[in-house]
Amino acid sequence: MSVQQILKTIEENSIMFVDFRFIGLNGGVHHITLPVSEVNEETFENGVAFDGSSIPGFRGIEESDMVMMPDTESAFVDPFTLHPTLNIMCNIFTPAGERYDRDPRSIAQKAEEYLQKSGVGTAAFFAPESEFFIFDDVRFENNMNSSFYSVDSEEAAWNTGRKEEGGNLGYKVAVKGGYVPVAPTDAQQDIRSEMVRIMEETGLKVERHHHEVATAGQAEINFRFSTLTTTADNLIKYKYIVQNVAKQWGKVATFMPKPLFGDNGSGMHVHSSIFDGDTPLFYEKGAYGNLSKLAMNYIGGILYHAPALIALTNPSTNSFKRLVPGYEAPVNLVFSKGNRSAAVRIPIAAVSPKGCRIEFRTPDSTANPYLAFAAMLLAGLDGIKKGLDPVALGYGPFDKNIYELSDDEKKEIRSVPGTLEEALDALESDSAFLTESGVFSEDFIANYIAFKRNEAKQVAIRIHPHEFNLYFNV
Ligand code: GLU
Ligand code: MG
Ligand code: MG
Repeated sequence: MSVQQILKTIEENSIMFVDFRFIGLNGGVHHITLPVSEVNEETFENGVAFDGSSIPGFRGIEESDMVMMPDTESAFVDPFTLHPTLNIMCNIFTPAGERYDRDPRSIAQKAEEYLQKSGVGTAAFFAPESEFFIFDDVRFENNMNSSFYSVDSEEAAWNTGRKEEGGNLGYKVAVKGGYVPVAPTDAQQDIRSEMVRIMEETGLKVERHHHEVATAGQAEINFRFSTLTTTADNLIKYKYIVQNVAKQWGKVATFMPKPLFGDNGSGMHVHSSIFDGDTPLFYEKGAYGNLSKLAMNYIGGILYHAPALIALTNPSTNSFKRLVPGYEAPVNLVFSKGNRSAAVRIPIAAVSPKGCRIEFRTPDSTANPYLAFAAMLLAGLDGIKKGLDPVALGYGPFDKNIYELSDDEKKEIRSVPGTLEEALDALESDSAFLTESGVFSEDFIANYIAFKRNEAKQVAIRIHPHEFNLYFNV
């Protein structure tokens, strides 16, 4: 959209404010709002200044002046503000006019440019399935009954505010019993439909919504695939709408990967594929999963680099409480056509050549989508460049029930890292696939590792409520 067109949109929609937004290191959205009287052609040419030193993970005080450069293609009218407001996603530039090397959105765009330069294809498509919980309320008390540490998810449901004290005890959803029952068991159809209505109003193309597997309150809404940066923008918009509708309805929505102990967590499976013009490069009729050699090498790259990649796709201490056996979250670094405990699944039901894709099941929504999708693409491209064959490397395919394998067979299977620290160690020793292309700078990776190690440390030094169960009475 040209600057003239965006100014026309502002006028036609009687917009009163323009909200300039950018993405922080952790995927959080930051914004500065300008009254429309301050917005003109120059705003789009020169950008909007902000103080980068106050954003966690960005540079120190000596390089505080930063500039947001609006991307007019990303504009949408905010569905929640009192006064008509146009939201625009921005890239971050230094005052010297260079792309800021810690700007996640610029990194996503650089990954797309690298794909084109590599000659492999013209576009990579992404589609995330971002699951979340809708709770009535959340209590953050640091005590033994806190929902986040409960040993029993029934009790956890109680503590997170889905209370039924002496009230209606019927139509309860059992632990792991939430997959697609109709109302009244599914009590959240209306709120999900309202989220979808607003998503569509803002231009997001929604394909479906449903209740997810965990006990009452887990949801999933799927929107249509698109190119890498646009999909990351869409996911940011999706989360914004989910959380604001929840708030309007007196609820809270959380994308935290494992808010309830003992029940399914929330993943963000990411589907991806590469096209050359109109030609889908992942499809080969009759091959395993109808996947081409190029797609197999892409899988090889993802699985080979997975321990490091996971530092970007599962970047929270809570992420690793989800990646445990028994909850449909992947724990095995293998690929498979059907197995939900495999890190890479190949969807085969109702798939056309153009829909042929791979599903990386490890990620969760604490990932910064710009960094996670860029890193996935780079891992896959490295697999293509080096011809990494996932079969020869021992990553499968594993189509039988992994729990029924013999001990010897099980020994062959590698697992996802067990903690954030382990994933960061892996990233420290395997980051060339991210930096060689110049998409991620070495400084970015070093800063990211230090930033995340500090997060892990801040969690580790706090007293955990379960420690009271274990040690208080000794
Ligand atoms: N909630 C599961 C996870 O953590 C996934 C369930 C599904 O297959 O959709 O990944
Ligand atoms: Mg799901
Ligand atoms: Mg899935």
